[in-house]
Amino acid sequence: MDRLSKKYLRARKIPSTACSGCGLGQCHKALVLALDELEYEVNDVVWGTSIGCAGRQTFATWQGDNFAGTHGRVYAIARGLRLAIPPKMKIILTVGDGDAFGIGFNHLLHAARSNAQMTVLVCDNLGYQSTGGQFGWTTPQGIVTDSSPYGMSEPNWVQPEMDVLAMLKAAGATFLARHVSMDGVALVKSLKKAVQNNGFSLVHTVFPCTTNFAKNALGSRNAVNIFRWVKDHAAPMGEEKHNTLWRTGIYHDASNSRPEFSAALRDSVAEIQRRYQHEGSH
Ligand code: SF4
Repeated sequence: MDRLSKKYLRARKIPSTACSGCGLGQCHKALVLALDELEYEVNDVVWGTSIGCAGRQTFATWQGDNFAGTHGRVYAIARGLRLAIPPKMKIILTVGDGDAFGIGFNHLLHAARSNAQMTVLVCDNLGYQSTGGQFGWTTPQGIVTDSSPYGMSEPNWVQPEMDVLAMLKAAGATFLARHVSMDGVALVKSLKKAVQNNGFSLVHTVFPCTTNFAKNALGSRNAVNIFRWVKDHAAPMGEEKHNTLWRTGIYHDASNSRPEFSAALRDSVAEIQRRYQHEGSH
């Protein structure tokens, strides 16, 4: 175990049970690095996880408080928890694309609407890989999957004209970024900004699935090929190429620009109490 694993993660969860070569570890490591650079301690964070590869592989790895919210419910649980824990404690969620942009999307939108403090790291393996590799809501068009043997024919939620980040921005999210897992320093930087926002933050990060996605889309489980393929189809915003699928960088930063959900509710309750105490004294 390295220094960061010893400081933040549970020894029995290292190494993770992810398939050999899976890129999920890069997402996880970037988040832990960001927390370390921000000098957070284990007890400063509550970590929630979702269903699927992203949730399963990060479940209960954090040495501090953890919770699991399967099948899209983790955002609603986090909103409730936000009211129960001290405001200075951060909520971090590691979830997958199917959980966030599929079954949990309604709850995700309401977490954004209310600007509840949470940092959602969407670890995107481009489909439902834990169930065999079916297409999902971010699977690029034309890609062969277990459920699209002739190529994914539907549009997806990363295309510029229907980008899920635009929907989240419209819903009220105050920090949004997109990356691929090999972005390194840039990904850590976005995650640090996301965690520092006292509101709803989401960082969408595409990572290579060496098992089902690579086998179906590229015809091989060769890890080098799928890492190159993901990296080749990403480019920083403003430096797009003809084959760019993922425009990376900070998409929207309105950090700390409007009231956070639990703070606003506490203020509202205090105001109601003041009003009734005032009326009661007359
Ligand atoms: S199925 Fe794919 S995403 Fe899931 S753990 Fe294996 S390599 Fe990673």
